[in-house]
Formats: sequence, structure tokens, C-alpha cells
Amino acid sequence: MNDMRDLYQQLILDHNKSPRNKGPLENSTSRAVGHNPLCGDRIEVALRLDGDMIADIKFEGSGCAISQASASMMTTVLKGFSTGRAQELFEKFHAMLTGDGGDMEQLGKLAALADVYKFPARVKCAMLPWRTLEASLDSQPAMISTE
Ligand code: ZN
Repeated sequence: MNDMRDLYQQLILDHNKSPRNKGPLENSTSRAVGHNPLCGDRIEVALRLDGDMIADIKFEGSGCAISQASASMMTTVLKGFSTGRAQELFEKFHAMLTGDGGDMEQLGKLAALADVYKFPARVKCAMLPWRTLEASLDSQPAMISTE
């Protein structure tokens, strides 16, 4: 169990240090900005939809290690997903972070963020990229805030 914890820690640190899919996305079809004033995290998620499929997804912005690692992991996982599958994963991830458990197996490496549920203030950091993604999939141009 402790080895697993260490592995998860490493994963978060690694994604924070070398975030994947960070930078501007050319030819994006949807985007949204998310802001978590409690922590000062600010994330912009941009994606390119090909029909119902997320053909590409990137993020920009700055914030704490948890928000950055969460955004990095999210973009890594969601590339190639349908928007419906992305929504399902959003719900599983949210259930995990609110302590409802749910099936962690399907979350794969996103389970690295499972312990965040013990720190309610940090849950907003971990959820921010996902809430921003959700907003970007809405038809209205979006700017969301966790407050
Ligand atoms: Zn944060």
C-alpha cells in the first residue's frame, strides 16, 4: 500500500513538473476558462472535436501542483474519447474525489488523485480541469469559477 502511495506521489510530481499537452491548441473547436479563486488556479482547456470524438485536447494556465497534475492527466486520458465517455469518466472521477468510492479500476492512473478527497479544499483544485472541460463542451461560451 505504501509503495502504491509513493508511486502515486511520483506520478503527481512528475505531471506537475513535466505537464503533458500543455500549450496552445491550433484549430480548437471548443474552449473554456476555469478559475479556482480559493487557491488561485486558472486553467484554460481547449479541444478539437471530430464529430463526437475528442481528437485533440490541451490546456494552459497556472496553479498548484494538484490542479496542474490533474489537467495533465486528464488531457492524457481523454484524447480519442467520445464526449459521452468523457462525461462518464468525469462522473467517476468526481465520485472518487467526494469519497463515494466508485470503481477505481476504470480510472486507471487518475486514481493517483484518490487521496485528494481527504483534503476538501484540494478537491476543487483536482476538479477544476474537469469542470472546465465540461463547460467547454457546453454550447455557451464559458468561464467558470469553483466559487
Ligand atoms: Zn489549487
